[in-house]
Amino acid sequence: MSRTQASTDPLISLLSSEIPESCVVADPVSLKPYECDGLSGYRQMPRVVVLPRTVEQVQAVVRICQKTGTPIVPRGAGTSLSGGAMPHKNGVVLSLARLNRILNIDEGNRTARVQAGVRNLQISEAVQHLDLYYAPDPSSQIACTIGGNVAENAGGVHCLKYGLTVHNILQVKMVNLDGELISIGGTTLDSPGYDLLALLMGSEGMLGIVVEVLVRLLPQPKVARVLMGSFDDIEKAGKAVASVIAAGVIPGGFEMMDKAAIQASEDFTGAGYPTDAEAILLCELDGTEADVNSQIEKVKRLLKNAGAVDIRLARDETQRIRFWSGRKNAFPAMGRISPDYYCMDGTIPRKELGNVLTRIAGMSEKYGLRVANVFHAGDGNLHPLILYDANQPEEFEKAEEFGAEILDLCVAVGGTITGEHGVGVEKIDRMCVQFDEYSLSQFRAIRKAFDPDGLLNPDKAVPTLARCAEFNAMHVHHGQLPHPELERF
Ligand SMILES: Cc1cc2nc3c(=O)[nH]c(=O)nc-3n(C[C@H](O)[C@H](O)[C@H](O)COP(=O)(O)OP(=O)(O)OC[C@H]3O[C@@H](n4cnc5c(N)ncnc54)[C@H](O)[C@@H]3O)c2cc1C
Repeated sequence: MSRTQASTDPLISLLSSEIPESCVVADPVSLKPYECDGLSGYRQMPRVVVLPRTVEQVQAVVRICQKTGTPIVPRGAGTSLSGGAMPHKNGVVLSLARLNRILNIDEGNRTARVQAGVRNLQISEAVQHLDLYYAPDPSSQIACTIGGNVAENAGGVHCLKYGLTVHNILQVKMVNLDGELISIGGTTLDSPGYDLLALLMGSEGMLGIVVEVLVRLLPQPKVARVLMGSFDDIEKAGKAVASVIAAGVIPGGFEMMDKAAIQASEDFTGAGYPTDAEAILLCELDGTEADVNSQIEKVKRLLKNAGAVDIRLARDETQRIRFWSGRKNAFPAMGRISPDYYCMDGTIPRKELGNVLTRIAGMSEKYGLRVANVFHAGDGNLHPLILYDANQPEEFEKAEEFGAEILDLCVAVGGTITGEHGVGVEKIDRMCVQFDEYSLSQFRAIRKAFDPDGLLNPDKAVPTLARCAEFNAMHVHHGQLPHPELERF
């Protein structure tokens, strides 16, 4: 950071007086990479980025922000797909990336204590020699941080069986807006008082700055095998998912890909997928040899009864990894067939899978934009990838409208506007569709209890009543403007 910048912005001078200058980034070129997260359609250059190396430095930054009324946007790896880590124009981006140490591995208690900036995959790699792992596995796990996972309650392929972040965390240490270090949760499975730990999960940086996390570790399953079922009809594939879960089988992972996703992935990875299928299901069964063998037979029967035209069991570990490589590379594969894509994230009851996928296909025709579906079918967590070209006039806006219609459909069939990617800036208006005024006012009250001045990640996730009124005003019925008492802005 140059001295000139420090002298022109009093906030930057103040920060540099409390933490080393090497932890303060203020020149425009170095700030550029922080202007967005994974939702790159939304951008805002930050005023300043700080990268503390210690918890004490985090506390110092927070105290300065509180004293000066400066908004704080916490940031992990910036992989959020909903704009949660997008900067505030007057604010500080507080990066936890340098708090990246694994503090302790407790084999006996099967836990690891890690700093917030530790990458998700780093934890499993560090305990692999003990035959342990950390179960929640977002596809971004090579990059995303555990602090960001807590803030988004991240999920992944294995969360159907092993739970989301919320189910795999015992304790969080966070810095509150007064700059105090507080501990939430405990070292045992249950702790007294309100379950504030659960409240923190998915709180999108609005309740405090996570600096340390105690995670649960699980023993690696002895055996894992994967079945691939192919279908000539997407509705049949959807029904097959519901029938497997209804029969009491909980696969380690249960994923679906539609024809567009199969073709793109196969061209990219050569995973061995049938490119003439309308849909495939990948069903991983894990546990002991005996359990896995009996479940394989059961799932084969269920897939067949649901109308699968072909069922293949990966013959060995190499083929199992190959089958999964197609799924794991499905997002990058889209980059080869479309200049841009917009990844939606909504969740629906499993029994609605077929119906909703068919209706998404109809929307694809209506908007004139292709869509590929690749998603966590077992959880009913959809990820429609809307393909568009940002250089074509209005295609970005059309993609956004298409996405919004999908989310409204998720709510209409009894689901939610988010599965695992959070609300951020992307879906803040959709919160007005999902929740009534009372629920939203409760959310705001919780936020206020932690952050009376509204400095922690403002304008994200929880809409104001005025914003909802404005949003709903787009649908004026019989000339009746909702909430006429509220100021319009
Ligand atoms: C290719 C790709 C695949 C993905 N797949 C999945 C998936 O399978 N499952 C899934 O759940 N997500 C997925 N994601 C989304 C994303 O990786 C997750 O939401 C992840 O948890 C974000 O972690 P991060 O460290 O990058 O956080 P960031 O993106 O930096 O921040 C995310 C949010 O958390 C807040 N935050 C970050 N760190 C802290 C902290 N220490 N304290 C308080 N608040 C904090 C931020 O303010 C922001 O609101 C994917 C993203 C990409 C790009």
